[in-house]
Amino acid sequence: MRKKMTSEQKALFIIFGGTGDLAQRKLYPSLFNLYKQGYLKEHFAVVGTARRPWNDERYQEIVRNSISGMEVTAKQANEFSSHFYYQAHNVNDTDHYETLRKLADELDGKYELEGNRVFYLAMSPQFFSTICQHVKTQGLVTENGYNRVVIEKPFGHDVKSATELNESINQYFPEKDVYRIDHYLGKEMIQSIPALRFSNNIFNALWNYRYIDNIQITLSEALGVEERAGYYENAGALRDMVQNHILQTVAMLTMNAPTMYTDQDIRKEKISALKALRVYDKNGVKQNFVRGQYGPGNGQVGYREENQVAPDSQTETFVAGRIFVDNMNMAGVPIYIRTGKRLTKKETRIDVVFKNAPYNIFGSEPLKQNILSFKVGPNPGMELRLNGKEVNFDQYRIQSMHLRHSHGENTQSKMPVGYEKLLYDVLQGDSASFSHWEEVYYSWRFVDAVRQAWDEEKLSQDEFQNYTCGSMGPQAAKELLKEDGNKWYFRPDEN
Ligand code: NAD
Repeated sequence: MRKKMTSEQKALFIIFGGTGDLAQRKLYPSLFNLYKQGYLKEHFAVVGTARRPWNDERYQEIVRNSISGMEVTAKQANEFSSHFYYQAHNVNDTDHYETLRKLADELDGKYELEGNRVFYLAMSPQFFSTICQHVKTQGLVTENGYNRVVIEKPFGHDVKSATELNESINQYFPEKDVYRIDHYLGKEMIQSIPALRFSNNIFNALWNYRYIDNIQITLSEALGVEERAGYYENAGALRDMVQNHILQTVAMLTMNAPTMYTDQDIRKEKISALKALRVYDKNGVKQNFVRGQYGPGNGQVGYREENQVAPDSQTETFVAGRIFVDNMNMAGVPIYIRTGKRLTKKETRIDVVFKNAPYNIFGSEPLKQNILSFKVGPNPGMELRLNGKEVNFDQYRIQSMHLRHSHGENTQSKMPVGYEKLLYDVLQGDSASFSHWEEVYYSWRFVDAVRQAWDEEKLSQDEFQNYTCGSMGPQAAKELLKEDGNKWYFRPDEN
């Protein structure tokens, strides 16, 4: 049983990139939710740092704006934002850390924070290592409290760069104090996977190659690249979505049962699962992976016509793959993954497809497979497809039925948004929902093999613009399953 944080927490947050999009859209609203619930009260302060020459008043106004769409009274907004301080800062300038340290120490005394510090790096990854270095060498790390560093994605762009980054951070912060964010791990239905798997013997007993036929993971987006093209051109869907969110989900679905539900035990099992990913050679990548790019259609422009995108871009906006986790329980179970932009519908879901009963005593009509679906978003819930008896008296026929559970509006409104849960965990020192370095390493090892094979094989323009906006990706992504006699269970493009 993990310990629960029940009372007010004392901490100073130093947010590098405090004027940025992530800070305004996600971090301040999440901190406010923690404030409303009383986890943050009197004894907390936030220092936002960035290049802009703002003052505290301007910054507090920005914070109030960022929570204005939430349920909040003017009094609450004023009280909450009064805990926010701004420090104009260039992360490369040593002197600025001295100013920051003085402010941090002053706030520590004023709010009685007992030396607890969370350094949140909401900035471009090129700065991660410099910030960690300066924070440590300029004395921002306290002796009396905890010092935790929260790092945004992307954590490197391949094994080599991620290893260098990690080694550099570890010079200043030990692994136990490094919280690598993957906000998918904060999602309620991703968090529900271990609960379903390990607290129900019907699933616990069946969760292996004997009973699971295949697993399907879909992270589909209806939007295009929007204003992120500058970043996306160099990343692509493989690095942007597969290396982190999808492989973390794979780990949650394929790990063995942790001894206890503690961060150390969970991470140990997730590392083992990711270590067991079958890494493909060039031929294996060709057989098991599909890439695609959205072309024009349904009133939308193609990726290559987007701002800041090269007219002959080879960047993939869609990936589908067949993955195997070669461990004793899951060996041989195909895990089909797909993610892409400008697809039919925004939806994140996992469909676990079970094998059929060994023999159909009911006659010629084939039985449908049992499917357990985790609907991660936008409407979180679960569904189990079973076979039952059709209601009639002249013939005994089998029909599909669905057991559905969706969290009601009341529960949904109480669901923490991804960052809220993760910030809560950072305060608690619970790293279960953050990626351990070894998880990151094995994920990159797998992804690098795919990337290298693709980089060596330049495709022609025609070969690449191969799915229409509003479809569910290239035809080849359907063929991938067809080869095994399977098909995607989630097919919004056929409705
Ligand atoms: P952004 O460009 O909106 O903000 C960057 C911030 O860094 C700004 O506050 C800017 O002033 C500051 N900055 C830049 N250079 C600086 C310097 N030399 N010295 C001091 N401050 C400097 O970026 P963002 O969208 O907020 O993303 C921040 C990080 O979070 C990135 O690593 C990104 O990949 C990651 N991330 C963002 C989102 C999101 O929803 N925005 C989601 C997932 C991950």
